[in-house]
Amino acid sequence: MQIQSIIDGARHPAPQNAERLPIECPADESVYGELIEADPATVDAAVAAARRAFDSGPWRRAAPADRQALLHSIAALIDAHADELAALECRDAGLPLADVRSRHLPRAAGNFRYFADLIGTETGEVIEHTPGYLTVVSREPAGVAALLAPWNAPLALASMKVAAAISGGNSCVLKPSEHTPVSLARLTELLHEAGLPNGVVNLVNGRGPVTGQALAAHAGVDRVAFTGGTATGRQIMQAAAGHLTPVMLELGGKSANILFDTADIDTAVNAALLGIYSNNGQQCLAGSRILVQRPLLDEFLNRFVERSRALTIGDPADAATELGPLAYRGHYERVLGYADIARADGATIVTGGERAEGFDKGYYVQPTACLVESNRARVAREEIFGPFACILPFDDVDEAIAIANDSPFGLVAYAWTSELAVALKVRRELRAGTVWINSPLMRELHAPFGGYKHSGIGRSGGREGHLFYSETKTTSLHAGDMPLRELGRG
Ligand code: NAD
Repeated sequence: MQIQSIIDGARHPAPQNAERLPIECPADESVYGELIEADPATVDAAVAAARRAFDSGPWRRAAPADRQALLHSIAALIDAHADELAALECRDAGLPLADVRSRHLPRAAGNFRYFADLIGTETGEVIEHTPGYLTVVSREPAGVAALLAPWNAPLALASMKVAAAISGGNSCVLKPSEHTPVSLARLTELLHEAGLPNGVVNLVNGRGPVTGQALAAHAGVDRVAFTGGTATGRQIMQAAAGHLTPVMLELGGKSANILFDTADIDTAVNAALLGIYSNNGQQCLAGSRILVQRPLLDEFLNRFVERSRALTIGDPADAATELGPLAYRGHYERVLGYADIARADGATIVTGGERAEGFDKGYYVQPTACLVESNRARVAREEIFGPFACILPFDDVDEAIAIANDSPFGLVAYAWTSELAVALKVRRELRAGTVWINSPLMRELHAPFGGYKHSGIGRSGGREGHLFYSETKTTSLHAGDMPLRELGRG
C-alpha cells in the first residue's frame, strides 16, 4: 500500500527524494505500506489547487441546494463503505473495530448530513437603522482552509472539519496525522467518487514539522483548523500568525469526572470505566481525573480495580476487544513512562502500570489507575492520553469544583449526583466547554464543542463551528431619495 497526496482530484507524483514513512499496524508492529511525505512544494501545489477551485471553480457558486445534495451523497457513500473504512482505521490506529464501526463511521456520515442541513437554514440580517439606508449583513465562505487532524479518531474528527468547511463553499487542504493516514486517503477518494469537484478537498500527508508546518504557515490559507496536542497548538498558532490567519484549536484535556456519594455506585463505576478506557484511553474528552467523594472511595476503588483487570485486551479487529493497542511506539513508551512519574510523585498505582501480558508484539498497555492525594502531582496535571486514570478523593462539592478547575485545561467535565442543587452548582461553576451531568460522553453534533484555557480556541460543531469558515460582509444600499452632500461647489 502506498499513500500519496491527492491534489486536484488526482494522486500527486512523489516529489524527488521524497521521504517515505512506514505505515505500521500498532497491533502487531507489521509495516504494511509507505507514506509519501508532501514537501513544501507539494503543499504549495495543494494550496494552489484549493485556491483555483475557490476562485474559479463551480463549488463556491453552486446553489446551496446543490451543495446539500452532494453532501448527502457523500454521507450515503460513507455508509455504503462503512465496513471498509472501519477496517482501514482499525488496522492503522489500533482502535477497536466494533467501536469504529458503530460510533465513528455513523458520526463521519452524520457530519456531512448535519452541515448539509445547516446551510439550508442560513439567513442574513437586515438593518434599517439609518434613515435612507438599507444594510444587509451576510456571510460568505472564507476561502481556503488548512485542516490538520489527529490520530485518535481520524475519520470522525477530520470529516467534521471537512464537512464544516466545504458545506459553505470553501475549499480545503487536509493533513491527516502521519500515524494514521490510511482511512482519510480512502475518504478523499470517496469524496471525488461522490462527485465533489476537483480541488475542493486536497490531501497532503507527512510529519507535523514538515508538511503540517508548511501548511499552517502558508500565505494562501485563509483559515487554520487544528485538532491535536496543546504544545503543537501553540506552534500552529505561531505559524499562522505570520499571515494573521485565524485559527481554531481543539486541544488537550485533563477532565474531571466527579462522583458524588449520592450517585448510584454501579453507574459511577461504569461511568468511570467508560470515561477513561474507551477509544483505548486516547480521547481528548476522557474523564482522566476521577474525583471520588470520600464515603464512596473504598467501594469505588475495589470495584473499579476489579473491572479494570477484567477488561478484554486484544486484537482491535476482534469483536470482543474492549482495549486495543496504543497508536504508535513513541506514544506507548510515553504512556508507560507515566507509571514511573506517578511513583516518583508519591502516587499509589492501584492497578496496571505495565505492558499488558501475553503479547509478543504490539503497543498494549494494562488498564492503569493511580490514587493521588494531591492535584499538584504530574499525573493529575498533564494529559497522558492513554488508559491511565488518576483518582483523587474529595470531601464536599466546593472542594470537588476547586480541584476540577485547578487545571491548565478546561475541555469537558462530568458529574454524577442525584441532587439537583449539586448538579446545577457544578454546571455553573465548572470552567469547561462541555459539562455532562449524569451522562456519559455524548458529543452533541448540533452543539458547539471546544475548550476553555489551554484546551483550545473556538468551537467546532454546531453553527459556531460552521461560522469559523466564513467571513461577515456588510452591504449598505443608499435608498436614493436623499441628496448627497455636494463637494467642490465653492
Ligand atoms: P499532535 O499535536 O501530535 O498532532 C496533530 C496534528 O498536527 C497531526 O496531523 C500532526 O502531524 C500535526 N503537527 C504536529 N506538529 C506540527 C507542527 N509543528 N506544525 C503543524 N502541524 C503539526 O496531536 P496528536 O498526538 O495527533 O493527537 C493527540 C492530541 O490531540 C491530544 O492532546 C488530544 O487531547 C488532542 N485532541 C483534542 C481534541 C479536541 O476536540 N479538543 C480531539 C482529539 C484529540
